[in-house]
Amino acid sequence: MTPDPLTTAPTAPDPGAVLDELRAALPADAVVTDPDRLTARAQDGSATAPTGAPLVLVLPADTGQVSAVLRVAYAHRVPVVPQGLRSGLAGGANAVPGAILLSTERMTAIRRIDHVDQVVVVQPGVVTKDLVDAVAAEGLFYPPDPASYAISTIGGNIATNAGGMRCVKYGVTRDFVRALEVVLADGTVIRTAPGTVKAVAGLDLTALVVGSEGTLGVVTEATLGLLPAPAPDRGVAATFDSVTAALEAANAVIASPHRPSTLEFVDGEVLAALAAHDPEAGLPVGARAMLIAITDEAEAGLGDVEAYRQIAEAHGALAVDVAHDPERLHQLMRARRALNPAMRAIRGGSINEDVAVPRTRLPELLDRIADISAQTGLPIGTGGHVGDGNLHPVIAFDPADPVQVDAAHDAHTRILGLAVELGGTVTGEHGIGVEKRGALPGELSPRVLEIQRGIKDVLDPLGILNPGKKL
Ligand SMILES: Cc1cc2nc3c(=O)[nH]c(=O)nc-3n(C[C@H](O)[C@H](O)[C@H](O)COP(=O)(O)OP(=O)(O)OC[C@H]3O[C@@H](n4cnc5c(N)ncnc54)[C@H](O)[C@@H]3O)c2cc1C
Repeated sequence: MTPDPLTTAPTAPDPGAVLDELRAALPADAVVTDPDRLTARAQDGSATAPTGAPLVLVLPADTGQVSAVLRVAYAHRVPVVPQGLRSGLAGGANAVPGAILLSTERMTAIRRIDHVDQVVVVQPGVVTKDLVDAVAAEGLFYPPDPASYAISTIGGNIATNAGGMRCVKYGVTRDFVRALEVVLADGTVIRTAPGTVKAVAGLDLTALVVGSEGTLGVVTEATLGLLPAPAPDRGVAATFDSVTAALEAANAVIASPHRPSTLEFVDGEVLAALAAHDPEAGLPVGARAMLIAITDEAEAGLGDVEAYRQIAEAHGALAVDVAHDPERLHQLMRARRALNPAMRAIRGGSINEDVAVPRTRLPELLDRIADISAQTGLPIGTGGHVGDGNLHPVIAFDPADPVQVDAAHDAHTRILGLAVELGGTVTGEHGIGVEKRGALPGELSPRVLEIQRGIKDVLDPLGILNPGKKL
């Protein structure tokens, strides 16, 4: 039987030789073996995904140094775990035993912003918000907007194909990645594409690497597409006395000609948790659901907002707050971004789901999650990107109570199964990481899994890149 890379340290490597070679290849302060720092870096934002004890943390500053690290790892068959800011929620950046943790925290250069090609060229460790702000300062727009954009990197966003608030209009990270520089398992550096708007020579390796969660190569530079800056946000926040009414209103917005740039939903459980977490946000409490619909259209914006108001009222909204002031909307969205910590605060522990289903199945998804909550006795609050059919049910539990821990894992498994049963996926944007590997065979056929593992073997024949993750 093949040993499980998550629990078994690699057999062959000589740790002393590995450290010596890494120290020879990198500046002295870029090779960290201090146990406290290693422990602090061993886990991402998922509370429950397993992790192992790493051998060393390396902090390369450029592509050459990343390549040198991988040459050492390849020669000694040492696992390498790429890490951005470890905001991931599936354990993708968690350490495996004996691993080299390869952090991109020193790779933060924004190399070029081009107004005619409408691209930005960056190193992978740039914080997403810093990139958004840098291009906005030049009148340009990078739309991908994960709720974690202030605490995640472009490299992490690319490796997870991160989604977020604006996907309903603009698409996900993949839609803005024009070309990548990638260091392969043996240290070879490749470019996947020229970075032009169009490029169809050969197979699409850029698309393959996007969403591969560090299992196919380390992204060391990205060429990302940009758009002209949109108009300031305006929109509505509407509350409802039933989840179904809110979901039907959301689907009516999508079916209308007034495509929003953001369409977010939270149920009553989440609304109460957010209000407690962020009292300053002035959230309307007491409702069973809230929708936030935002437009960033200049000319059509007023008509869009009026359409959202009418749709909400036609679906029996309790109250509709119309905001032509972007600051008010940003305040609501800031509160909404705290979905995970706010729900975790209820009982001290949480499992953050990330299911996506066809929008037509959303009412059934929410109904049956309510059943799972009642059967397990745990609060499950759901919110997220309703316009994409991508919601985050968050299971709250007390980590000190073994009964609740078991119940939380049971609820987790049942929600993943439910998403697949409804024609959807176990992960819309957070990725498989470690946490959802067990759910993969429920969603992908044996042949599809075999093809994917074959691709991984071609690019990483020794299996050193983020082993035990994704596939
Ligand atoms: C409060 C909160 C809100 C969130 N909201 C969203 C959301 O709206 N949408 C969303 O999609 N996600 C969301 N996330 C999840 C998370 O922020 C994203 O998955 C993000 O893309 C991870 O980026 P990171 O830099 O933290 O990467 P990490 O967590 O460090 O790593 C994530 C994965 O990418 C790999 N990786 C990192 N850098 C590289 C690289 N240079 N080359 C190859 N592989 C690499 C890692 O090995 C790992 O598998 C949220 C998380 C939190 C805590």
